[in-house]
Amino acid sequence: MPQRPIYLDCHATTPVDERVLEAMLPYFTERFGNAASMGHVYGWEAEAAVKQSREMLAIAVHASPEEIIFTSGATEANNLAIKGVAEANFQRGRHIITVVTEHNAVLDPCRYLQSLGFDVTFLPVQGDGLINLADLERAFRPDTILVSVMAANNEIGVLQPLSAIGAMCREHQVLFHTDAAQAIAKVPLDVEAMNIDLMSLTAHKVYGPKGIGALFVRRRNPRVHLTPQLHGGGHERGLRSGTLYTPQIVGFAKAVELAIAEMPSETRRLLHLRDRLWQTLSQLEDIELNGHPTQRLPGNLNISVSGVDGQALHLGLQPVMAVSSGAACTSAKVAPSHVLQALGRSEELAYASIRFGIGRFNTAAEIDQAAKWTIATIQALRQANPEAVKNSVSPPYPVQFEPT
Ligand SMILES: *Cc1c(COP(=O)(O)O)cnc(C)c1O
Repeated sequence: MPQRPIYLDCHATTPVDERVLEAMLPYFTERFGNAASMGHVYGWEAEAAVKQSREMLAIAVHASPEEIIFTSGATEANNLAIKGVAEANFQRGRHIITVVTEHNAVLDPCRYLQSLGFDVTFLPVQGDGLINLADLERAFRPDTILVSVMAANNEIGVLQPLSAIGAMCREHQVLFHTDAAQAIAKVPLDVEAMNIDLMSLTAHKVYGPKGIGALFVRRRNPRVHLTPQLHGGGHERGLRSGTLYTPQIVGFAKAVELAIAEMPSETRRLLHLRDRLWQTLSQLEDIELNGHPTQRLPGNLNISVSGVDGQALHLGLQPVMAVSSGAACTSAKVAPSHVLQALGRSEELAYASIRFGIGRFNTAAEIDQAAKWTIATIQALRQANPEAVKNSVSPPYPVQFEPT
């Protein structure tokens, strides 16, 4: 089999760490019980594993265990948070504040609520991807019931000022939800210190399994009222029915536990690799960094490359590295990234962007190889037809160059 490309797409997903898999395995076979079966040891074993995992996740974000509601991932957690709060609080108000650069798992529930008559303010971002706190302050209304601002952006990695946002929400007595799918166990999160009322989590961006996540729902000061979106057996305090997926829950907690224990050293290692990649790439002319230079996830680098066609660029990179482009593929069509456009990038520059997501299993040698190949590809594309490339309006654009 030919060598596979270097994986540098850790914002999309990550491999399951061997230590996580090992912790999960017994719960598929000998310890397969239903955590809701209270009459025998099979149920007790599963229940004990779920309890321990819930405690671990609660410690990780400074919550209490009963505030952790397991879901199928961050998409479901975001839907439960946003639609659940809206439904439970619509008599108090129907105004929600969020941000244009949120993940679609936040934007789409908000748009759905608009179709039901809710009013949503989509805050802009500054050139560095961060919100302007004065914009947020102005957006509060007497009928505002929820503010939803992500912790770390999945494209440009920028870290929004959660503590400041939380303090403002608390002052206005408005619930604060944050989508922390990219942030959990990568940067410190503290629901108490940051005044977070709801927080969405997922396992598969942090070397845990796919298909498992959680929503933190504050129980006191204030108690969050939430309408369930899945009705059934009344699991998870009635907020999310469905038999608990014990192996995934065990893997989720193990993944978070490991990542938190290794956070100080791994952060240093990733910053070193990321900065080394940027130092090499920024020697080229007309390369721009997308997002705040330091207020971002340690493993994230996102650049826009002028004078090349986005599609040609990504076709050129493909044989050597797995990265994401600034094109968002929805099922229907390819569109330029809404995040990069919100930073003020043109459509062409959004397409001609590269998101590097460096992770736990990447080595310095891989980063150097990726940097070298990226430079070679960009230089070859620029030399191949500098004028035509510069004047290109929009993809699809014929590929004129095959890297050798
Ligand atoms: C990946 C991601 C999601 C979706 O999480 P799933 O667990 O895959 O549903 C939501 N928000 C952000 C910011 C993400 O990066």
